[in-house]
Amino acid sequence: MRKKTVSNLAGPLETRVYRRRVTCPACGWHLIDACHREPIDITDLRSSQEVSWEPDFVARCQRCKNEFGIRKKN
Ligand SMILES: [Zn+2]
Repeated sequence: MRKKTVSNLAGPLETRVYRRRVTCPACGWHLIDACHREPIDITDLRSSQEVSWEPDFVARCQRCKNEFGIRKKN
């Protein structure tokens, strides 16, 4: 009989790294998890034509389909 490895791994993986929910600024949908405690910059790439900083990541909201540029502040 095989062990249920999926359920066994779920617990340790969740607690192994620090994670914090980053939600969509437009609709509140859960975009990504941040693994650091420092604040992040997040901007709507569609509404703002000029962004003064280069995003490290681009996340697309699954609910409202907006795209957001994300970067660490430090
Ligand atoms: Zn959204």
